[in-house]
Amino acid sequence: MQFWFTIHNSAFMKVFFNKPHYPIGSFLAVYKSAAGGTIAGNGKYTKRCQQFFEEKYGFRKALLTTSCTDALEMAAILAGIQNGDEVIMPSFTFVSTANAFLVKGAKVIFSDTLQAVPDIDPDQIESLITSRTKAIAVVHYSGIACDMDKIMAIAARHNLFVIEDAAHAIDSYYKDKPLGSIGHFGAFSFHETKNIFCGEGGMIAVNDEQSLGRSEIIWEKGTNRAAFFRGEVDKYGWVDVGSSFLPSDALAAFLYIQLKNLPKIQQKRIAIWNRYYDELRPLEDNGFLHLPVIPSYATVSGNLFYFLTRSNAERDKMLKHLNSYGIQAVFHYLPLHSSPYFTGKHDGRPLPNTDNFANCIVRLPFFYGLKKSEISFIVEKVGEFFKL
Ligand SMILES: *Cc1c(COP(=O)(O)O)cnc(C)c1O
Repeated sequence: MQFWFTIHNSAFMKVFFNKPHYPIGSFLAVYKSAAGGTIAGNGKYTKRCQQFFEEKYGFRKALLTTSCTDALEMAAILAGIQNGDEVIMPSFTFVSTANAFLVKGAKVIFSDTLQAVPDIDPDQIESLITSRTKAIAVVHYSGIACDMDKIMAIAARHNLFVIEDAAHAIDSYYKDKPLGSIGHFGAFSFHETKNIFCGEGGMIAVNDEQSLGRSEIIWEKGTNRAAFFRGEVDKYGWVDVGSSFLPSDALAAFLYIQLKNLPKIQQKRIAIWNRYYDELRPLEDNGFLHLPVIPSYATVSGNLFYFLTRSNAERDKMLKHLNSYGIQAVFHYLPLHSSPYFTGKHDGRPLPNTDNFANCIVRLPFFYGLKKSEISFIVEKVGEFFKL
């Protein structure tokens, strides 16, 4: 589950938070993959998808996974994360960013976000580095790029791995560089709430030269099966640790149709983002709410739209107000540093910017098929709230 929210009465909902878009040919492609005789992993469509990503975004190697969570776990293995290693990451993120490293025995050190952008504050990272620090995991929240030049420079100075959680950030850029191509590893999600999806799915972008060969082995359960099928070795066997990270080719077939529609999907989603922004602008100008801030080095990915209320109490009332009109507005994330699981493990540092985002964020319905009239209805109801 991606979000923590209350659906008061789903039969009554007029505008759902998300509605998956199935481009024509999606299910035919799944059928074709099955008719081709095999739907296990690393088949024809998997290769086509991976090649698409490598060519379009310049990832050194792209490997489809069953989720972004899996891609992050693969990154943790490739970065050699072990018991007691420390990994610095934002608290304002989905649980998977942390879990992927925790299951390898790492200690997670939470950083605050910037004040105006819900991305990790690079200036805080250096003070959190110790002799045990092994990696920095950054999250490009809603596809807004983190300040990667600063982060990569810190990592280089301290010899750390950088993992980009790019779950929201397909086709988004930092100074013209595709997100997910800058760190040693990039992790993407194809969960149905993301820009392109196959139900549950993901991908790791391996940019670290030294990890290219090993990534394929870990991906295929610690075997050199992929090299065997390319005819590079004459028998295949167990050569390293690994797990079953690769998805069925039937899912890759479904995803491939999304990739063919990527420009259209992106154009539409970014137009929805811009329409929300433009229509809500007068409310920001009047001091009622804060709209997202996009730094000059970043782009909009059209994954989600949020605004911030002036207080936590106002946010909760706003959600009730919107929900009462059948608008499924939601909030997230509950900060990880103060979650039930982590409270006792956090070192007690206050993370005020994280708390502020978590307290004041409102996420509006966002999906490919969202109509202009629905956006106008939602914006009207947001505006109405301030006149009550
Ligand atoms: C969606 C999401 C994930 C997890 O993606 P799955 O594919 O569901 O594993 C991880 N990190 C962030 C920031 C996400 O939004």
